[in-house]
Amino acid sequence: MAKEKKGVRLDHISKIYQDPKTGKDFYAVHDVSLSIEPGEFVTLLGPSGCGKTTILRMIAGFESPNEGEIYLGGEPINELTPNRRDTAMVFQSYALLPHYNIFDNVAYGLKLRKVPKDEIRKKVVNILGLVGLEGMEDRMTNQLSGGQQQRVALARALVLEPGVLLFDEPLSNLDAKLRVDMRNEIRRIQQEAGITAVYVTHDQSEAMALSDNIIIMKKGVVEQMGDPHTVYYRPANEFVADFIGESNFLHGAIVEHDGQHGVAEVEGHRVPIANIEHLGDGDACTLVLRPEAAKVADEGVLPCEVVLSRFMGNYHNYHVKVGGTVVKVTDFNPKNHKVYEVGESAFVDFTRDDVHVL
Ligand code: ATP
Repeated sequence: MAKEKKGVRLDHISKIYQDPKTGKDFYAVHDVSLSIEPGEFVTLLGPSGCGKTTILRMIAGFESPNEGEIYLGGEPINELTPNRRDTAMVFQSYALLPHYNIFDNVAYGLKLRKVPKDEIRKKVVNILGLVGLEGMEDRMTNQLSGGQQQRVALARALVLEPGVLLFDEPLSNLDAKLRVDMRNEIRRIQQEAGITAVYVTHDQSEAMALSDNIIIMKKGVVEQMGDPHTVYYRPANEFVADFIGESNFLHGAIVEHDGQHGVAEVEGHRVPIANIEHLGDGDACTLVLRPEAAKVADEGVLPCEVVLSRFMGNYHNYHVKVGGTVVKVTDFNPKNHKVYEVGESAFVDFTRDDVHVL
């Protein structure tokens, strides 16, 4: 669908704003460099205020960076106004024209570009088919459900055949069930249209479900960029491990090191660990253990006491105390396992490959 899918590159981009309360300047985005390949679906993920939307708006041209250069399809675009950039944005608010029907909403941008009438009709009908609104050209947009309005907003951006499609939290106004349906739709449409997409969200499951790559941000800087598997299983730091999914952090020190594997001492116990090339013998370390990677068992790596035991239907939730550390354990197959009650002594069990060492 896209005329030409384009990559995006940010080269040492910073954006400075003035804090309205203190009057002081601060970096909303600080020295961000990253590269998005043509055809990729990339999500900017992070807590409120971390600078995601500011990055998106700088790519669109609604904001200018104070430092650095943005490239689209290899060309520097800092000096181009938004309408001269090969981008289109899907907004959280949909931003539809309320007194127009679907056809006119979707055709609007093409009319501005003086595309011939019969070509407009062809393109609009085609796009409405792609977003699942075929035959609905004459419906007024103020008579549509939230999900349908979002489809119109998507069609309106797609019909322009932009090199890069930008999404600013487009599903925030939809209820939970529809959000899941629409995110699957967005992914399908992006792949069918073969378009580069940059998507802003603070919802980690949305980011995981949609993305080829996720950019995790905190306070204006990029903490990690990687595919969903990498950011989940090999988080760069505690912030990423905590932001994507749930994590236990076990603090200890390395007491044996053979170059690749070793042993960490945690709460006075020896824990086998792997992939510790980046650390040395005697170094302090943090073990990231996902709750679903750990088990409560009669034997195991770390002795513990059960302090919470709760059957949740499709999983069983434990909190266990290992010395002074509370460890969360999720058993996703509770029917097949013994249940441990609060106050019982047991062990937390896991293998060295279940642990990611920071
Ligand atoms: P959210 O998920 O809440 O939208 P975000 O990660 O998208 O957050 P941004 O909207 O990019 O965050 O904002 C980054 C920081 O810059 C925030 O502290 C915000 O208050 C501030 N900011 C954004 N726009 C302006 C502006 N025009 N003037 C001053 N400060 C701004």
